[in-house]
Amino acid sequence: MSGFRIDVADLLARAGARRDVVVAEPIEGLRSTAAAVTGPVTVAAHLERIPEGIVVRADVEATWSGECSYCLGEVGETVHLHADELFEAAPVEGETYPIEGQVIDLEQLVRDTVLLELPLAPHCAEPCRAEADPGATEEAPTDTPSDPRWAALSELEIR
Ligand SMILES: [Zn+2]
Repeated sequence: MSGFRIDVADLLARAGARRDVVVAEPIEGLRSTAAAVTGPVTVAAHLERIPEGIVVRADVEATWSGECSYCLGEVGETVHLHADELFEAAPVEGETYPIEGQVIDLEQLVRDTVLLELPLAPHCAEPCRAEADPGATEEAPTDTPSDPRWAALSELEIR
């Protein structure tokens, strides 16, 4: 069972009841045409019982990666999002989410929230050049040769 499915029997039993939940799990197939979410999605949600149902105030953190539209280098970003949504027994299509028996499933809310933020044409944070080598970033900085000529060069750059 997905960790995003939350048993809310305790909240349904008492008006005004509230509870915080934190879930961190991967979500399969959460991607746009150009970017895909990698690793777990973290949701910290405050649940509150109101007469209409359960209000969920969720902070969502997800990391996506994709290819730069210009240089095809790897790009990615961790996004922090917020969503306030209502879960109710008789949900309104496209507006509220369902309470299924005594369970709410935060996965669809998370999908909807994150998908809106995935870029359709991701690109490097800094303008990148056509001659940029996408493999260059994979070289460990410790491999930098300690050739004195390089040292002289970096001194020049400082000035
Ligand atoms: Zn680029």
